Amino acid sequence: MPVYEFKCHKCDHNFSLVISISEYEKRKFTCPKCKSEKVKRQLSSFQTITSKKS
Ligand SMILES: [Zn+2]
Repeated sequence: MPVYEFKCHKCDHNFSLVISISEYEKRKFTCPKCKSEKVKRQLSSFQTITSKKS
């Protein structure tokens, strides 16, 4: 299962969750620290996006 990394916009807490893709799509995620729903998924290191346009 993939690891999703999140960052809370409220308290700046970083956390990661191991969840399936289907689970990810139907769940809402909250910060484990402040319970805020204002979390943003971070791109994992293996998902490096190269936005090179040639
Ligand atoms: Zn938080």
